[in-house]
Formats: sequence, C-alpha cells, structure tokens
Amino acid sequence: MIDKNLQEKLRANLTKLIEEIEIERLKYSPHQIIKLVAVSKYASINEIIALYNVGQRAFGENKVQDLKQKIELSNTLPLEWHFIGTLQENKINHLLSLNPSLFQALDSIKIANALQSRLKRENKTLNCLLQVNISNETSKSGFSVESALQSYETIMQTCPNIKLQGIMSIASNTKDTKTIESDFRKAKDIFDKLNSLGARILSCGMSDDYKIAISNGANMLRIGSKIFNIC
Ligand SMILES: *Cc1c(COP(=O)(O)O)cnc(C)c1O
Repeated sequence: MIDKNLQEKLRANLTKLIEEIEIERLKYSPHQIIKLVAVSKYASINEIIALYNVGQRAFGENKVQDLKQKIELSNTLPLEWHFIGTLQENKINHLLSLNPSLFQALDSIKIANALQSRLKRENKTLNCLLQVNISNETSKSGFSVESALQSYETIMQTCPNIKLQGIMSIASNTKDTKTIESDFRKAKDIFDKLNSLGARILSCGMSDDYKIAISNGANMLRIGSKIFNIC
C-alpha cells in the first residue's frame, strides 16, 4: 500500500532540499555535478519506497545488517545502494555478497588488505572511497590528513580489486562554520591532489553542513535527517 500522505511529505522535503542544493551549486560553479545520496539509516522501508516513488535513486546505510534487510525489501526497485559505515573485518563477506554500488568508508590499510584478499578470491571488484579524518576527532575513523595521499597511492598499487573513486569525510561536530569550512577545505585539497590518480568523488556534507560542503567543492552529499524527518 502506498501511503500518499507520506509520499507527499517526502516529495516536499526532497524538492526543498534539491532547490537549496541547486542555489549553492550555481554559486560554486554551473558546471559542477552533484550527486545526492539519501541516508536511510533511520528510515523505514516504506519511507524508502515512498522516496523512490518521488524520484530518489541512491540510498546509503551504515550497518551491513540494515543494508541487507533494506536491499531485500526493495529488491524489485532499481535502487543504488551505498555503504557509508565503518566496516568490520568479520562483515566483509557479508557486505560483498550485497554488491553495493559504493563503499564510502575505507578507513585503514588493514581493512583494505582484508578486502583485497576476499575480492580476489571471489574475482570481484569494489568501488570505494578513502575515508579521511579531516576533523581529527578521535571518535571518528579514517586516515589522517597527513597520511591520506600516501595511503591512497599504496592501496591503488597493492589492492587492484579495490577501485578507489575518491574520498569521503565528515566535518567536526560543531556549529562553528569556520571550523567546518576549514575541515572541508582540507578534504578538497587532498581531493585535488588525487585528481591525477583518478579521484572523481568528493563525498562531504550532511544535513547540517551540506551548503558549506558544496561551497568547498563537494560533489556527493550524504543527507538523512533533512529528507526523512517528516514530523
Ligand atoms: C548518518 C550519516 C549521514 C547523514 O546524517 P544526517 O545528519 O542525518 O544527514 C551521513 N554520513 C554518514 C557517514 C552517516 O553515518
């Protein structure tokens, strides 16, 4: 049963968000192409289907078990699934069996090596983003800003089944826009230096900071609460 009321609320949220993204995008550059990933970790399958019905195609989850469940419940729809959470080594096979479109949080050489050996064994490849800890908060995972470039190169050279597409970052947990801006600029700087190595995706920006992310060159946004909060 399609809940028309839910669908219209989500349509209104999504339309408003896209209009706001568009304003920032045009300020940054009319040539910039930005992809919106709807983070559905707090959304039900009905909300996901309703958002699909109003045009959204890319969705993101941060737990392998939730990803599996939501893929199964939406398997008749042509959705594009992103895994945006920390990957534990004991969940690698599980994640690979789900064939996500993009794993956005590759955060250590150890997990890269473990992924590589499973991918090779299964004769698969996986599109990934290197997670860079731009805020330098110990609560956040990812490569340090200082080690990101070298680590990106190392993974490219030693993990041929991992297809690195760029980087993903989360800004400091603060209301101070100067700090957030300085965080995102660090990500953009690394991204620019990785351009010659084929990095094409800069995934920065969530519900509270996506405008700052766009004005600092983000071309992929991961937004959850601003879309699905329908109270
Ligand atoms: C939850 C989450 C988001 C979305 O956060 P909102 O503030 O709800 O937009 C983005 N990225 C990651 C890695 C997340 O875990």
